[in-house]
Order: sequence, then C-alpha cells, then structure tokens
Amino acid sequence: MHDNDNVAIVVNDGGLTSGTVLESGLVLKDGVPQGHKVALADLKENDPIRRYNVTIGFAARDIPAGSWISEALVKMPEARALDDLPIANAPAPHMAPLEGYTFQGYRNPDGSVGTRNLLAITTTVQCVAGVVEHAARRIRTELLPKYPNVEDVVALEHSYGCGVAIDAPDGVIPIRTLRNISLNPNFGGQAMIVSLGCEKLQPQRLLPRGVIPIKGSLDADVPVVCLQDAAHVGFESMIQSIMAQAEEHLKVLDQRRRETVPASELVVGVQCGGSDAFSGVTANPAVGYATDLLVRAGAAVMFSETTEVRDGIDQLTSRAVSPEVAEAMIREMAWYDEYLKRGGVDRSANTTPGNKKGGLSNIVEKAMGSIVKSGSAPIAGVLPPGEKLKQKGLIYAATPASDFICGTLQAAAGMNLHIFTTGRGTPYGLAPVPVIKVATRDDLARRWHDLMDVNAGRIASGEASIADVGWELFHLMLDVASGKKTWAEHHRLHNALVLFNPAPIT
Ligand code: CA
Repeated sequence: MHDNDNVAIVVNDGGLTSGTVLESGLVLKDGVPQGHKVALADLKENDPIRRYNVTIGFAARDIPAGSWISEALVKMPEARALDDLPIANAPAPHMAPLEGYTFQGYRNPDGSVGTRNLLAITTTVQCVAGVVEHAARRIRTELLPKYPNVEDVVALEHSYGCGVAIDAPDGVIPIRTLRNISLNPNFGGQAMIVSLGCEKLQPQRLLPRGVIPIKGSLDADVPVVCLQDAAHVGFESMIQSIMAQAEEHLKVLDQRRRETVPASELVVGVQCGGSDAFSGVTANPAVGYATDLLVRAGAAVMFSETTEVRDGIDQLTSRAVSPEVAEAMIREMAWYDEYLKRGGVDRSANTTPGNKKGGLSNIVEKAMGSIVKSGSAPIAGVLPPGEKLKQKGLIYAATPASDFICGTLQAAAGMNLHIFTTGRGTPYGLAPVPVIKVATRDDLARRWHDLMDVNAGRIASGEASIADVGWELFHLMLDVASGKKTWAEHHRLHNALVLFNPAPIT
C-alpha cells in the first residue's frame, strides 16, 4: 500500500502456498491465506509493522521475511492521545467543481430531495410493532394499487419508547434519531404516528407541533392513531384507523413526480461492514474516489463509524476545514472513548472473527482501510448522532460502526442514498433508503452475483483502476437515485432500524 510498508497482503484467490516465489524474488516461508499479511523484510521482536505507511502493530517475536504474519504475531498499539493533534493544517487539495451531472429526484416542499416515494408510519413504541406490521401489509395489498406513484410503505419500528430512562441526558439521541428519520426526504414530509397511549415517549415529544408543516400550517399536530383510544373496539378497528390515516397521506404522496435535479442534491452516507483486508485496497478507495466526485459536484457525503476512524484521528483533525470542526471531531472521539470505558472495553472490541479471518489483525489495520472511504476532500463539518444534516461537503457523522445503527443514524441525518462496502459479504439493506453494495473481492462478487451491485475486486485483479470503479459507482449512484433498483430492493431485503441508545433501560 505504501513504499514504507514492511508487509503486504496476498490477493490471490485461495491464498499462496509455502515456497511460492513472489515477483520481487521473496520466497514464502509459510502458506498465506488470501487477504493475510506477508513480512517483506526481517522483523525483530517489537519492530513496528507498517501498512498504509502507519504502524498497525508491533512484532510479537522475530519474524523473518516471507513469513505469514498471523494475528497472534501483531501486538496492538495504544490509541493515540486526543491532545496535541494536528489541527486543520493539511493543505486543501485542488478539487475542480464537477458540473452537469443530474438525477431524477422528488423535490420536497422544504427543499430537500427524495430518491424514493415512500409512505412512512412512525411508531412511538415497540408495543405497536405487530399491529403496524399488519397494517403495513394491508396497506401494501389494498391501498397501494390505487396510488401507483407511491413505491412502498415503511413501518418505522424500533425497540425504544418505553421501559427507558427517557429523561437521562443521553436519551436525546434515540428520540431525535426517531424524529429526524421520520423527516427523511424519501417520505415527502408526510409523517403519521401510531402510538399505544401509555408509553413514555408520547407523540408530541417525538414530533412536536411545527416540526412538520401539516397541510401548510405550523400550528397543527402530526396526526396520531392511538391504539388505546376508547373509540377502538377490537383489532380490526385499529387497522381501519391506521389505513384511513395512511390513505390521507397516500393521496398527497401520489402527486409527487420525479424531476431533473443537480447531483448536488445527493446526501450520501458511506459505511462498510463485514470488512476484510481487501476493503482498504479495493472497495473503500473506490468509494473514496466517488466521495471526492460527490464533493466536487456539490453534494453532501457522510462518513461515520467512530471506532473505525479513532486510530486515524490525526489524519482527520488535520483535514478539518477549521479548528472548530477539528475540535468537534475530538469531542465525539472523547465521548466515545468514555462510552466504551463505561462498558469496560476499548476500541479493540470492534473487530469480528470474520474481520480476522479476512486478514485484519486489529482495529488499527481495520481503521486504516475504513477511513479511506472519506476520500481526500477537507472535512467540512461534524454531525452528532441522530441530528439532521444541514450542510454540503464531506461530513463526519459520528455514529457507532454497527451496520444497522450507522445506517439508521445516517438515515436520520437525511441521507437519500447509502453506499455499503463488504469483503466477507452481508445482505444488508435499509427500508427507507436505497443501499448500493460494493464487494471488495472478485470471489464474493462472483458468488453473491445477485446481492452485490458493484465489484471492486477488479482493482486487485488488475482489471480496473480505483478511478474506473469510482466513476462506475458515481454513475450508478445517479441511476439508483433516479429510481433504478438495487439488488437489496429487488429482493426486498432490509434490516431493522436500530436506535443508538446510550441511556439506561428501566
Ligand atoms: Ca459498519
């Protein structure tokens, strides 16, 4: 990955056997699995192991050149302290504006642009999930055929709402997440709520009057169907109430039409999941290239996953546009360090058995591969978890790395398109927002041919450059934003919304 590195990874399908002679003349002393590291030079015990021109660990013992560097041979370095970081000192790269790219989107009354036309049913509490799920099925089969411009109905179900310490300071995170996800541009400003009645999270606390202009007025409440309402006699009457309210919104949503809008209206969230050692070589650099294209086109791009950028914090604070942005990033990192400490762990709790099988020895190596999704643009802003994004450019949206939580928080930020890279493979999807999945390896793209939308593995096999795949991804983003279905949408796959709730449960 860099001239200063003393390790490299084996990209060949199936790995390489002991005795293989590499192009450089180096002879492998061990068999090395695909994605795993080979020592390019003799390492003494405690010598730094360098990949991406970064010390990802220290040699646990002497390691001769040509050896397989398994996880057990890598001692993890301490996390970098959060003081004395370089602050907003990186020279801004020259990035010429990219003009003339458009997509077909749904312009909303508040100026935001949707990529899908969906009816969302917000819920205040998990108790109503079964009823809302039933109602959503009936809406899909009985009502949607009458409103052909509406693509689907999305039940915003979650595990929050009651049995929680709702006034705990961190309780604002799940509440504002749920509020802002109801305002996602794909829902066209047509929020409705299904509530139980006795729950802690009351509808007016979730969506206060004025948050969404109802019928052009700021002083009306968002419509609520309350299951405990005395008028409800029997299950079917609850379903009829939900369907009647839903139909009011379907009438409005059905009037939405796609129109030509500039690429600058894209609000893209990027993340990775089921990563391997290829992630930082193929898919994530291609996403980083596309991130730069989006920024040049005037769009908003969010990268996230705090534990996966923590070890690259010095690169990020240095790329901040201002000391304020760098400080905001440091605040988010410090908050997360403390959050993990409270739970008796540190950032190393992030890596999975699959990451390690895929060649990632520790969180430092994983972070170096993850962070490249941010491309090279200056970091224009920082968004705390659950808040709504109000600016363009490259944004650090602070979220956990957990796929479904990161996706949920980015959707709450106002994301209208999601990019997801994977090396091990995951069928991940979101109901509110289309997800383009990018495979890091040819083998995964071949086997999961009807789940992966883009194959970045061609970069490792030399068939395509990072720029080729970056541009392919950029064009696909415009197509998907215009209505082309992703594989996850084709199969109707989506994960649950999972709220980030750092506050106590009662
Ligand atoms: Ca993730």
